[in-house]
Amino acid sequence: MTNIVPDDRIEAIVKITEEMNWLRAVVSDGNGAIFELPGYAAAGMAGGHVAALTVTESIVAPYGSELMYLPDREPVLFNIAAGEFEKLHENPHAPGEPVFPVAVFNSPGYVITHVSAFREHSRARMLPLFSYGAAGWHRGQFRSAAIRVDAEPRQDLRRMKPTDVSAGVRAVRWRMPGNRLRQHLETCALRYGCPAGKNFFLGRYEAPLPTAKTCNARCLGCLSLQKKSGISCTQERIAFTPSPAEISEVALFHIGRVRRAVVSFGQGCEGEPLSAARVIEPAIRMIRSRTGRGTINLNTNASRPEAVGRLCDAGLDSIRVSMNSVRRECYEAYFRPRGYTFDNVLRSIDTALEKGKFVSINYLNSPGFTDTPEEAEAFFAFMAARPVRMIQWRNLNFDPLRYWKSMAAAAPLGAPMGMEVLIREVRRGFPKLKFGYFNPPKEKFGIERLTARCA
Ligand code: SF4
Repeated sequence: MTNIVPDDRIEAIVKITEEMNWLRAVVSDGNGAIFELPGYAAAGMAGGHVAALTVTESIVAPYGSELMYLPDREPVLFNIAAGEFEKLHENPHAPGEPVFPVAVFNSPGYVITHVSAFREHSRARMLPLFSYGAAGWHRGQFRSAAIRVDAEPRQDLRRMKPTDVSAGVRAVRWRMPGNRLRQHLETCALRYGCPAGKNFFLGRYEAPLPTAKTCNARCLGCLSLQKKSGISCTQERIAFTPSPAEISEVALFHIGRVRRAVVSFGQGCEGEPLSAARVIEPAIRMIRSRTGRGTINLNTNASRPEAVGRLCDAGLDSIRVSMNSVRRECYEAYFRPRGYTFDNVLRSIDTALEKGKFVSINYLNSPGFTDTPEEAEAFFAFMAARPVRMIQWRNLNFDPLRYWKSMAAAAPLGAPMGMEVLIREVRRGFPKLKFGYFNPPKEKFGIERLTARCA
């Protein structure tokens, strides 16, 4: 039942909204228009919990963030007059006009504290591979329920002009015309709009070194391969294995012209790099035979500890291990490993730590799961046993309701404590632990980076 707010009460309601510091609710008409809904406060959800969003617990939506509407779903908003949450299938101010939930896909460096609050229609299909942050409106601006964890402008679109990218592509093509990896990265930069690919051609920060055609996991949210899931992957997997010479040529070119350069194996457009260790190992040796500069990093599912050991010995500087959970059941329910186990992942981390490498966890987080007491407890135990150096807080790009359902089927899930609380407690428990979003250059392995309104 929808409690329609009489017009003469709107002003009073707006006053309450201000007093209560609530964000104003926004919805979509399903044709691309997003508008404020008077009388309602914005809401966010975490697992089965819904909360009204406030100005103080939100930030202005970061530049480059994208707003989306969610089809075949109904927004859940806070009806201020009724003092209760309400699921809306139509605009209460224009009966008959459908309304849809709005979500924000925040730009890199921001962790969502709440997901857009909504309920599915029975015909709803799986949402595409994005994170669906909660959003609201305040004083002429969209605001996100999010926390900044990395202030570095590495993927700030304002610094990646398309004309500069195209000029960079032409210049590098001329430098290495026969290099297939360079050609593949052109597609990444120009067709997929991959920020890492663009940064290579712009000569900024971190360059990608995709190498692997295959993977020994079947992540629910794999960006490069989706089979019978009803969703499409966001980029195609590399279809060839570059040679060590091609890899090292791209890497050395980047290291040669970028201060504090990072070059990284393990990108969204490939499978698992450890499945291509036979070309990565000689490539690393070729790079290190020519220069000690630059940071060679491996983004990986860490499924093969022996291969990790060999790459460390070859000259790898850092390793970033992707995990949605440190609880075996939840890890296996998401990664669906084939031919490896969670113990292999732990052994790879131990191997890299023993060899003195900089180890990060690429922590795929989802409010309502990551901030549950069971997950937090397991994470603290994991951190106490394995002194990794950095947590990269990364929003999980996957349909939140379907994800919570899969995780709840795998292990117990209590009431979420809130991502802010979790991040604050991790900070308190492990004061030396680095927080961020991007792979740091080795020059910064030891430096803390904290800024205002962040974890
Ligand atoms: S480990 Fe990476 S490539 Fe493999 S299934 Fe998962 S997301 Fe895809």
